[in-house]
Amino acid sequence: MKKDIMSMNLAELTEEILALGQPKFRAKQIYRWLHKAFVTDFSQMSDLSLELRRILDDNFVIFHCTIEKKLVSEYDGTIKYLFKLNDGELIESVLMQYKYGYTVCVSSQVGCRMGCSFCASTLSGVVRSLTPSEILSQIYMISLDNNIRVSHVVMMGMGEPFDNYDNVLKFLSLVSDENGVNISMRHISLSTCGIVPGIMKLMEENLQLTLSISLHAPNDEIRSSMMPVNKKWGVRELIDACKKYTDTTSRRISFEYAMVNGVNDSEECAYELAELLRGMLCHINLIPVNEVTETSCKRSSPARIKRFSEILSAKGFAVTVRRELGADINAACGQLRRNSQK
Ligand code: SAH
Repeated sequence: MKKDIMSMNLAELTEEILALGQPKFRAKQIYRWLHKAFVTDFSQMSDLSLELRRILDDNFVIFHCTIEKKLVSEYDGTIKYLFKLNDGELIESVLMQYKYGYTVCVSSQVGCRMGCSFCASTLSGVVRSLTPSEILSQIYMISLDNNIRVSHVVMMGMGEPFDNYDNVLKFLSLVSDENGVNISMRHISLSTCGIVPGIMKLMEENLQLTLSISLHAPNDEIRSSMMPVNKKWGVRELIDACKKYTDTTSRRISFEYAMVNGVNDSEECAYELAELLRGMLCHINLIPVNEVTETSCKRSSPARIKRFSEILSAKGFAVTVRRELGADINAACGQLRRNSQK
């Protein structure tokens, strides 16, 4: 079995290179080819001898995904990618352009097993988790395809990052490594549906990234009806974990709240949410829900979203309503993969 070289950090790669009887400095050279030049084949490592390139090819594999489909939004240039992995599985990634730079939204799993009622990624469950190299490859392939430097990453694609904790953490350390693509932790967001042990573990890592919590409801009754994960870790337990997280890391948490008509968008919900999050170091992001054909969720009207947002602002919260990007290209999680399976 050839080893997955792009999932190795520099220390691990150095060990491998030494074991092959090569000088230590080669490891850094190879690491740069992989994580700065994004080569897809050892033959492209032009400053290594042909002999060494052959040895590498005999021992390692560079896992890259390939572009299966690409949709470009006519409204805002957002590009949605459907990528094929080595075993034929499909995942989605999105490139968004903001004033401050290019952001890539990456997937962490093929499918998802969290079962949120409004989400397309979870409709056929989880197939498997992604390796660190498969998460990196989404960013590298998009950088090559557009000839750009990606400056921001959000882990908000398909999958639950904390259901693939170790590979996600490894990915985070590789993507922020200054010897590689060097994306600052401060420019990375990780979103979870609320797996409390994952939040507590991440707290111990004390990373400078932004933790996003998909809250979507102010109480157990509504949240459990939308998100099965809430039956395991309820709202109180989740918010207590978040408080601990902000106390320990001094990092502001971002709460995601998908506005679903008649489900979680009433004035009472807004007041209840304000009470729940009172005094917390946080930001609230209201997301007009993307309507997915297979689910019955309907988006809240702009007037209801505005009212909800005003109540939270008046209570002193930092609130934003997410600007919709790529509305014409099915940019909601999981919709592209699903359509291609039909
Ligand atoms: N599993 C992680 C990350 C992936 S989903 C999580 O749950 O946070 C990224 C965000 O998109 C989450 O906040 C998720 O709840 C939200 N989302 C999923 N489907 C959506 C839809 N149809 N409309 C709007 N937001 C959606």
